[in-house]
Amino acid sequence: MKVYPIPGVGYGSNSYLVKSDKTALVDTGTDYANIIKETSKLNIQIDYLILTHEHYDHVALASQIVLNYNTRVYAHQLAAEYLEVGDSKHILCDLFNTQYPPIKVDVILGHGDVIDLGEARLKVIYTPGHSAGSVCLYERDSGYLFSGDVVFRDGIGRSDLPGGDFNKLMISLDNLHKLYLKDGVKRLLPGHGPLGEGRDLEKNHLMYSSNIK
Ligand SMILES: [Zn+2]
Ligand SMILES: [Zn+2]
Repeated sequence: MKVYPIPGVGYGSNSYLVKSDKTALVDTGTDYANIIKETSKLNIQIDYLILTHEHYDHVALASQIVLNYNTRVYAHQLAAEYLEVGDSKHILCDLFNTQYPPIKVDVILGHGDVIDLGEARLKVIYTPGHSAGSVCLYERDSGYLFSGDVVFRDGIGRSDLPGGDFNKLMISLDNLHKLYLKDGVKRLLPGHGPLGEGRDLEKNHLMYSSNIK
């Protein structure tokens, strides 16, 4: 497995091209030219588009990517419910001053599901709190954790947006920290900002330890 980070531009999320026997794109960001440039350079298709959650800055380009690459779209059940009706409240259309035409989600994800890319297998961890339909993806062989907006290198996601819940976010952070302790997460690939390491989970967990029961 090889991972090619595509850094977010402006408010847009980071995207990650995960190349194994099949290729997945984790989140779309908002810069279509960057996605095209990277896939052309690597001469790869995008077989699967995996959305970590329903917020516009992560899903903005989904319909264009599906059209161009004939990609299958994966999202958590709750994220899919919002995306398939273009729920502007949960997609945060007002915050980003935009509209979101509904998209079709081909594969509904739930906690514990495994997305099989061939050699690489992405395990789905349901991590609500930043949004209702948030998931993280963990690849055990490499120790890579795609953490969406749940946890960043230096901090955690907001919980004050529609569908957010601070207590649930704390439980999600605690679950990711348990994964780090048990399974040895090595690399943190967040939805915004610089890439981190497994021990950043420890750091962030410690920072919020008084809120974690
Ligand atoms: Zn985001
Ligand atoms: Zn978000």
